[in-house]
Amino acid sequence: MKQEVYWNTTVNMPGDTSLTPVPESVDVAVIGGGYTGLSAALILAKRGVKVVVLEAETMGWGASSRNGGMTLTGLKVSLQTIIKNHGQGLAGELFQCSLDSVELVEQIVKEEAIDCGFARTGHLVVANKPKHFEAFKEEVDFMAKEFGYKVYLVPPKEIRNEIGTDIYYGGLVDEVSAGLNPAQFVAGLAGAAERAGAILCAKARATKIERKEKGFFIETERGSLTAESIFVATAGYTGSLVKKLQKKIVPIGSFIIATEKLPDELARELSPKNRMIFDCMHYLNYFRLWDNRLIFGGRAAFFPENENTVAKSGEILRREIIQVYPQLKDVNVEYVWGGTLDFAFDMMPHVGELDGMYYALGYAGHGVAIGTYLGKTIAESMLDGRIQEHPFARYDFPGAPLGLYDGHPWFLPFAGMWHKILDWVE
Ligand SMILES: Cc1cc2nc3c(=O)[nH]c(=O)nc-3n(C[C@H](O)[C@H](O)[C@H](O)COP(=O)(O)OP(=O)(O)OC[C@H]3O[C@@H](n4cnc5c(N)ncnc54)[C@H](O)[C@@H]3O)c2cc1C
Repeated sequence: MKQEVYWNTTVNMPGDTSLTPVPESVDVAVIGGGYTGLSAALILAKRGVKVVVLEAETMGWGASSRNGGMTLTGLKVSLQTIIKNHGQGLAGELFQCSLDSVELVEQIVKEEAIDCGFARTGHLVVANKPKHFEAFKEEVDFMAKEFGYKVYLVPPKEIRNEIGTDIYYGGLVDEVSAGLNPAQFVAGLAGAAERAGAILCAKARATKIERKEKGFFIETERGSLTAESIFVATAGYTGSLVKKLQKKIVPIGSFIIATEKLPDELARELSPKNRMIFDCMHYLNYFRLWDNRLIFGGRAAFFPENENTVAKSGEILRREIIQVYPQLKDVNVEYVWGGTLDFAFDMMPHVGELDGMYYALGYAGHGVAIGTYLGKTIAESMLDGRIQEHPFARYDFPGAPLGLYDGHPWFLPFAGMWHKILDWVE
C-alpha cells in the first residue's frame, strides 16, 4: 500500500506557480488555494477585480485534492436539527443553497470544460442498524412534506440493486447528488481562475496580517503585499494566522484507501448504479467507484494525517472494506492517504466578516459542492457589501464550550472514543 493521494496520479496538477512573483498590491488577497479560494478567485477575476491566491503548498494541495469527490446535496447536519436550531425558513434557504451548490459545480465544469468525470449518479445512505432504516422512512415523508423534495427508500430486499453486500438494513437514495474526481476538479478550477486573470502564488504561505488604515499588509514566505480586502479560505488547515478562526475550527483527520483496478463485473456488483455511498455511523465509512477502483474512506483515526495515522488508517480501512464487501478479501489495496476536515463546534459551515476579513469554512467533510458555492457567493457579497444577508451568515459561529480550546485539539482522543461509544450504544 503506497502512502500517496491516488487522485494526484490521475491529473497534471496546475503548473508550478511557485515562481509567480507575489504582486505588490491587489484588490483582494485570497488565502488558501482549494475549492473555496479558487472559486472565489474565479468569480472575482471575472468581475475585473485584481485578485491573488496565496497558497502555502501547491494549488489544491489541501482537502480539495484528497477527498472522496462526493458532490452532495444537504449539509453535514440533518435538516431536522437545522430546523430545531435555526427555524424552518432559514433551514429551507440553506437546503436550497446546497441544491444550488451542486448545480454550480456542474455549471463550472461545463463552462470551463473541466474534464473531471462529473456525473449525477446520486447518493445512497445505508442503514447500519434497523432503527436507521426506520428513520429513513420518516425522512422520505419529511422531505416530501416540508420541502417538496424526493428521496426514496431502498428496502432490505432490494438492496442488491444498489450495493453488492447484504450487511445493511436498507438504504435511502437522493438522485440529485453527483460524483467527480476531486483533484481533476480543483486543477480545472485553478486553470479557470488563472485564465480569468487571477494571480496564483504557490509556496506563498501567509505568515502575518496587519490591518492598515485602508486595507491590509500581508507578509508571505515569498515577499509581502498590500490588499484592500482579504478572503480566508483555509478550512482544516487554518493555523495561527487568524487566531480567532483557528479557535473555532477543530481539524479532524479523514482517510481513504484505493484498491487496484477491479474487473468490470466485480465493480458493477459492488455498486451497480455507481452511487456515492456512506453509512450512518459516527465513525462513518464512505465509498464509491472510480475507474473500476473502490475508493473507500473513513474517519479511521481522529488526528489529522501524518505518516503514522495514514499507515494505521490504511490497515483499519483494509479490514473494514472486507467487512462491507467480503468478496474483496484477496484484492490489493494500492493507495492510502489522509486529509484534514474542518469542524466548527455546531458542525455547520460559517461565513462572515471578522476584523475586516471575509471567511468561509467549517464544512465538516461535506465541502466539495458547498465550498465551491460559498467561495463564489461570499466573493460576490464582498463586492456588494451585503454579507450579513447571506443565508450562511445569519446564524452564530459558536466557540468551544467553556472556551476550552485554543486551536490545539487536546480532546481528540476523547472525542474519538466518545464516537465509538455512541456507535455502540445508539
Ligand atoms: C479525506 C477527505 C475526504 C473528503 N470527502 C469529501 C466528499 O466526498 N465530499 C465532500 O463534499 N467533502 C469531502 N471532504 C471535505 C472537502 O474535501 C473539503 O470540505 C473541501 O475540500 C474544503 O475546501 P477548501 O478550499 O475550503 O479547503 P482546502 O482544500 O483544505 O484548502 C485550504 C488550503 O489553505 C492552505 N493554507 C492554510 N494556511 C495557509 C496560509 N497561512 N497561507 C496560505 N495558504 C494556507 C492549505 O495549504 C490548503 O491548501 C473530504 C475531506 C477529506 C480530507
